Amino acid sequence: MTPRRSSIEINPLFARPGEATERPRFALADEPMLPETAYQIVHDEAMLDGNARLNLATFVGTWMDPAASTLYSEAFDKNMIDKDEYPATAAIEERCWRILARLWHAPEAHHAIGTSTIGSSEACMLGGLAMKRRWQQARRAAGQPADRPNIVMSSAVQVVWEKFANYWDVEPRYVPVSPEHPTLDAHGVESQVDENTIGVVAIMGVTYTGAYEPVRQIAEALDRIQARTGLDIGIHIDAASGGFVTPFLQPELEWDFRLPRVRSISTSAHKYGLVYPGLGWVVWRGTDYLPEDLIFNVSYLGGSMPTLALNFSRPGAQVLLQYYNFLRLGRHGYRAVQQASFDVARHLADEIAAMAPFELMGDGLDIPVFAWRQKVGYTDKWDLYDLGNQLRQHGWLVPAYPMPEAMTDLTVQRIVVRNGLSMDLADRLLEQIRSSVRYLDGLDGPLPHEGRVTTAFHH
Ligand SMILES: *Cc1c(COP(=O)(O)O)cnc(C)c1O
Repeated sequence: MTPRRSSIEINPLFARPGEATERPRFALADEPMLPETAYQIVHDEAMLDGNARLNLATFVGTWMDPAASTLYSEAFDKNMIDKDEYPATAAIEERCWRILARLWHAPEAHHAIGTSTIGSSEACMLGGLAMKRRWQQARRAAGQPADRPNIVMSSAVQVVWEKFANYWDVEPRYVPVSPEHPTLDAHGVESQVDENTIGVVAIMGVTYTGAYEPVRQIAEALDRIQARTGLDIGIHIDAASGGFVTPFLQPELEWDFRLPRVRSISTSAHKYGLVYPGLGWVVWRGTDYLPEDLIFNVSYLGGSMPTLALNFSRPGAQVLLQYYNFLRLGRHGYRAVQQASFDVARHLADEIAAMAPFELMGDGLDIPVFAWRQKVGYTDKWDLYDLGNQLRQHGWLVPAYPMPEAMTDLTVQRIVVRNGLSMDLADRLLEQIRSSVRYLDGLDGPLPHEGRVTTAFHH
């Protein structure tokens, strides 16, 4: 018989002297604490975050299957830059961007070049830098000044392009979106480019509305400009969300390397690439479009390997997760997943459009993302921010925000449908929207606007 213990072992979480009440919040404490206690404190505070699955503001993946999680936990410790130490991960990285080059129809895929990044932001910076450097080299070679580069893009670009222009001293030329020109198009490009234009950015999946920009039209406008003036201006495609949607849902649409004007494409693997954050990719159609002097060499298997990045260290695990998804899903699997999200988005959009107060922005879905506005004259008692707050009280995070420059008078609300938002959950959300509208309609007088909580808009 085992002797009875004279004491009970308890786990005195939060109950030791001092622990229950005091820990400096903004300074490092002197003494360590038990791992369980530290875990519980962090865990409990993070519990106050919104529920990621009900977060319809973000584009970033919030779910992978259990096998992916196992792989992830086996690879937490890999640093992507250690190519020499982790040659298998390095080889898989290269395989992934080559797969993307083919998926995006690089004409001679073996001439394409690419890299993984921490996300689209880094990938866009690299795409922009390559355009800037290439333009500078061409100008200098021609004995022309190279000190006033500009970049042409829609006013609805993601914030990374404002950063690019700011950090690398490139004049941003924003073509304002308007009801007549809701995206960048041939008209906008023709009015803005000149001999100092390093390139044009076209977005596949505008953050505000989910719409694709008409890349073919933009390319044709640049062809006409070249025929007229001799200027050879390329396009970088910011396909942060569309890069993993278009090849599966709109395979006929020509937006990628099938168009010779398209010189580089970036995407976020952690959006519709279905990988946990943070991973992105950038691919150039050929080595000609990536100036040699942007490439550094790191040691690799006793030799050296070219790398191109803003970061040095960054996690390698997500690269393995990307390759896992490529193997696990294949073309048909990716198509099935994106189609399911698209069908849910279509259903939500149709139902919301059928509600009295709302009308959709745009006339069809491109990626599984859509935005709507309140009909003019419906009411001045409440607006989309009030609806957002009502939904938030029930756990749903559905952001309302103003449109960019030249359309800032217009407020819209947006839903990003990701893998994991089922038809069933979508129907619950619709019920909640209907009951919130009934509640708001029934209120007397406008709502007080002070102190309301708004959900951050993910640029
Ligand atoms: C999300 C997004 C980005 C930024 O991507 P990250 O992967 O979050 O760095 C850039 N451009 C567009 C169009 C986006 O939607």
